[in-house]
Amino acid sequence: MNVDVSPSFASELLQAGLLIPMGSDGLYARSGLFESVVAGLDVMAGQLGADLHAERLSLPPAMSRAAFEQAGYMASFPQLAGTVHCFCGDEAHHRRLVQKLESHEDWTGEQTASDVVLTPAACYPVYPIIASRGKLPRGGHVVNVTAWCFRREPSRDPTRMQMFQMHEFVRLGTEAEVTSFRAAWVQRALGMAEHLVLPARIEVANDPFFGHAGKMMAASQVEQALKLELTIPVSSDETPTACMSFNNHRDKFGATWDIRTSDDTVAHTACVGFGLERLALALFRHHGLAVSAWPVTVRDAIGL
Ligand code: ATP
Ligand code: ZN
Repeated sequence: MNVDVSPSFASELLQAGLLIPMGSDGLYARSGLFESVVAGLDVMAGQLGADLHAERLSLPPAMSRAAFEQAGYMASFPQLAGTVHCFCGDEAHHRRLVQKLESHEDWTGEQTASDVVLTPAACYPVYPIIASRGKLPRGGHVVNVTAWCFRREPSRDPTRMQMFQMHEFVRLGTEAEVTSFRAAWVQRALGMAEHLVLPARIEVANDPFFGHAGKMMAASQVEQALKLELTIPVSSDETPTACMSFNNHRDKFGATWDIRTSDDTVAHTACVGFGLERLALALFRHHGLAVSAWPVTVRDAIGL
């Protein structure tokens, strides 16, 4: 959801040089300080799940187009997708492209879609990786993953970026394992917010599914409370920002990727996602732009 952004917080961040505009709304260079807060939160998120002995994965900001198609992303969120196109013509074709460039015509149609797309959420590439290994072990599996993500949602609201980093814990297992995982993470996340002295609430939410059919999908998601969010006032006091989400996919990805539990039933999955930049922005919003003035416990928690 786009919110009315308090212009002061956005402009303070830019004036302080924490975020540096790069010529497209929602695309920023980040100062060393901003990124060290993000990195501290990334480590803190990982530590919060240390007892789970999860498999740690670090992903590139792109994934295979085939996996993206199979996940059904274009059916649900075509407006957010970022595909990677390349030039693969010959010299004559190249001359045409350069002519268009020189005469300021649109040259992008001279490219073709490649076999990679930008990763829309950290967990998307995880399912086919796990599926390729065969049945889950008894007790299922947990993955701890961080990735740069892309969503085409340009905005002046600094909490709505086009490229951002998401840290996720992904649970694959039985329905009961997945349900208790998500419930436990809601409590862990509230504990983390308390530790960071951030005013957080848990709300039932929905994804921005596209179009008329999407409205019905969103309503059903709310009705079944499949998506919860930890929200914190950041850009606006009236409309708090989703800084984390807790998603129960039920057997959707298990069925899509034929992921099976040890007793050969279709696996259920859930993921918990930390929006690292949004959490960093929440810290700057509530504790000020000077990190040296933050509560010592907060600085300790993120190693600053
Ligand atoms: P929103 O409702 O604000 O669009 P979302 O529900 O689409 O967010 P998720 O798909 O649940 O977000 O992604 C997990 C987390 O990633 C979010 O809770 C948020 O913290 C972060 N995130 C999502 N979109 C953005 C964005 N455009 N810029 C920065 N962080 C984001
Ligand atoms: Zn996810």
